[in-house]
Amino acid sequence: MRLYQRKRRKDPEKRKEDSDRMREIRRANPEMTKAINKKCYDKDPEKKKARSKKWRAINSQRCWASHTISSHKRKGYAVIITIDELIKKAKEIKTCLYCGRLIDYTSGNGLNKNSPSLDRINNGKIMEMNNIQIICHHCNASKSSRTHDEFVQYCTKIYKQFGEINEG
Ligand SMILES: [Zn+2]
Repeated sequence: MRLYQRKRRKDPEKRKEDSDRMREIRRANPEMTKAINKKCYDKDPEKKKARSKKWRAINSQRCWASHTISSHKRKGYAVIITIDELIKKAKEIKTCLYCGRLIDYTSGNGLNKNSPSLDRINNGKIMEMNNIQIICHHCNASKSSRTHDEFVQYCTKIYKQFGEINEG
């Protein structure tokens, strides 16, 4: 049996099949998963913490997407976007649409100016794929409840008032 398992592990296709099946089992049995996780944690908390940190770094878009969707739902927004759709979008969006700043998905939610932020293009509409964009946390805070056009008008107004300032 062990030899058979070892053979399976060497085959990437089969390894993926196994891990998909395990994921399904874990999802279907949350209590069991919790117990296993706790057992691993109790055995070696440092190792477990290091592993989950590594996992979060590799899966930063996934972490951000699932956290963002659930936090928006918790706040009462109607969200009809799946985690996978948002992950796909996050993998495409590397810089902020407005300021061009690099977006850092590992930095978490709204923690610093490079953090990604989910914005509705039109705040009057619900969160669906064709009404959202990923911009930096700072720009989203400035944009506030404005629509895309209103925000650009607002920035233009400020620019007209103060003109260009040399960045020091
Ligand atoms: Zn920005």
